[in-house]
Amino acid sequence: MSDEKGGAVATAGVHYAPKCCVGECDKWGLAGFAASKHVEARWWCWEHYPHKHETPEQREAASIAARLGIGKPPH
Ligand SMILES: [Zn+2]
Repeated sequence: MSDEKGGAVATAGVHYAPKCCVGECDKWGLAGFAASKHVEARWWCWEHYPHKHETPEQREAASIAARLGIGKPPH
């Protein structure tokens, strides 16, 4: 006798931990942004998050994002 029903295996144990996409930065990404749902989101640590242009690092991140075509905040 067998009462095994279905074969669903939960895969929710896999954690994707994004890191900041700025080259020398090794911090965890806290702010993610994707230009559309068809592209992979980029992640930034809060200091590098490009949608606030307060420091040279943020402006650099913004220029990287712009080059990748993802720097424009949604309207
Ligand atoms: Zn960073």
